Amino acid sequence: MTVEETLAELVAIDSVSSRSNAEIISYLESRCEAAGFNVKRFPHVDDGGVAKINLVAHTSTAEAAIELALVGHTDTVPYEPTWNEALKLTAKDGKLFGRGACDTKAFVAATLAAIENVDPTQLKKPLALIFTADEEIGCLGAKRLAAAKPFAARYAIVGEPTGLQPMRAGKGYCLAGISVRGREAHSAYPGLGASAIFRAARLIERIERIAEELKSDRREGFDPPYTTVNVGIINGGSAKNVVAGECHFTLEWRPIPGQQSDHVLNLVKQAVADLQQYDSDFVCEIDAARADESFETRADSALVQFLEQASGNAPGTVAFGTEAPSMIALGADAVVFGPGDIRVAHRTGEFVPADQLHECLNILRQAIARFCM
Ligand SMILES: [Zn+2]
Repeated sequence: MTVEETLAELVAIDSVSSRSNAEIISYLESRCEAAGFNVKRFPHVDDGGVAKINLVAHTSTAEAAIELALVGHTDTVPYEPTWNEALKLTAKDGKLFGRGACDTKAFVAATLAAIENVDPTQLKKPLALIFTADEEIGCLGAKRLAAAKPFAARYAIVGEPTGLQPMRAGKGYCLAGISVRGREAHSAYPGLGASAIFRAARLIERIERIAEELKSDRREGFDPPYTTVNVGIINGGSAKNVVAGECHFTLEWRPIPGQQSDHVLNLVKQAVADLQQYDSDFVCEIDAARADESFETRADSALVQFLEQASGNAPGTVAFGTEAPSMIALGADAVVFGPGDIRVAHRTGEFVPADQLHECLNILRQAIARFCM
């Protein structure tokens, strides 16, 4: 079966994150078993009561220590109902269109094609394919594996559309919900209340100053080369003539490697403490909802150097969340790498260039030879 045919079969399986990924896992499992790999399922039930599975297919009998892991997520973002060919791989002008074609079923198809001509009994060092659940909604499957630590890995190629550029570092992703309280009153008599919106505005002004200060801690190689901060959503108040009793906003920050993921949170807590000095009534709750670590694999790692040489592309950095930190937690030098462009992922009409798909397959074959034979 060609790598395009494999990709077509993968795209045909609807694996939007909200659904169970059991169907695509069964497909991957049978393909890996046919190639002589041992497979192990790591099932769980997600918060919505839906069955989710991580799958590890490996060549060793012990599975405790993997030399090279090829990691691909099984889920995709949703697709518009008007995109009639979302689940039908469609070729045009050297591009292969379909939901997940770019992110990240092209890489998954390349891993399956790469192991087809490998005799697992001939490998000197263990190779594994790792297929995860729920990457698109917070890398949840990979985080479960990282927490359970069922194996250790030395090198991991995490499949994401990077245009075949090896990405050896990435910013973290953190999110908090902030609720500021006030006291409602008739707006004609503001002195009887306390505006949660004015209070939130003061805090947000401080957060903007924090964002400015963060620019001085630079990590070259990132765009932009510092931790960024965003207040993306704000809600508050109940009517135009009522002093607002509550105001909520989201705070998102993307920390550079080497900076603790809670650094920004601590600065914000400090700002709250400052504001409380002038306004003892200032009540603010911070719900730290998410803290995905940044990651960095050294430029002189054998995996970075191999992928740089094999692809002809200099190593770079990614600004989006990936499963690389989870693989690092499992002991690996992790590099994010795969065919396609992240800028067309998640869009109606996402596609992977066919030549990049083939080149990825080539490079994965070389990687197996380099690290496992
Ligand atoms: Zn992805």
